[in-house]
Amino acid sequence: MSSLTESTPTALRVLGVKLHAVSMDQAVERVLALIQRPGFHLVVTLGTEMVMRAQDDPEFRELVNGADLVVADGAGLLWAARRCGLNLPERVAGIDLVCRLAEALAGSQGSLFLLGAAPGVAEEAARALCNRYPGLQIAGSQDGFFQEDGPVVQAIAASGTRLLLTGLGSPRQERWMRQHQDRLGVGVGIGVGGSFDVLSGRKTRAPGWMIRLHLEWLFRLACEPSRLLRMMALPRFMVRVLGSRGQAVTLWNEPLRPDPP
Ligand code: UDP
Repeated sequence: MSSLTESTPTALRVLGVKLHAVSMDQAVERVLALIQRPGFHLVVTLGTEMVMRAQDDPEFRELVNGADLVVADGAGLLWAARRCGLNLPERVAGIDLVCRLAEALAGSQGSLFLLGAAPGVAEEAARALCNRYPGLQIAGSQDGFFQEDGPVVQAIAASGTRLLLTGLGSPRQERWMRQHQDRLGVGVGIGVGGSFDVLSGRKTRAPGWMIRLHLEWLFRLACEPSRLLRMMALPRFMVRVLGSRGQAVTLWNEPLRPDPP
């Protein structure tokens, strides 16, 4: 089994979709480095639902594959990599990445902008982050139920922040950032799904033991049974991985092999 922990992120391919083999520390370091660089950099927090969407949506697949950093948000990705003989360092959940970045930015008077979730939620999430990480600057926040993109893009650009957290749900959040990347004026945009709901306290995160056992998906399903349909992506993903005879996850540079018949 290969160990993939060197500081330059190693890119893997999970059913044709890019994924970087990074630890949380490496992901934080990478984002902080990308923030300093000119231009926009997209960071994707990848889950198995997104991998399955990418199977039928080549445009979305290219979007993810063109990202500057893709971290393993879904526990199913770690399982898949292990089955294919590649060891991912650890899960890098979007919400944990947000907290680690907030902590790092607080120490350097850095700022972030929160875009997404129901009205009031991003503000509450911002307040919670500031309470937890004194020194953190909130450049702005905006709910995810706006009608026109233009004023939102302008507000983000005018805020002067270098880091945008977008919680509009996937694939909208990634598409939105790519569509407006040249006018946002930020160095890094990260899709963070429903993180603001949890940070604000409006939704509860799974208990630690469930997270450690990689059962966070089960907790979310129990809290929101309406997620069942979209969560069917997980068993479909597992069937594909099991049927691939160890070829579902490969190094990015290796040629793509079709699933065996
Ligand atoms: N959302 C939004 N605008 C919309 C639809 C959804 O801002 O038009 C928000 C929603 O309130 C939630 C997030 O997008 O905070 C999506 O959360 P979900 O749990 O579906 O994402 P996941 O964490 O599974 O990626």
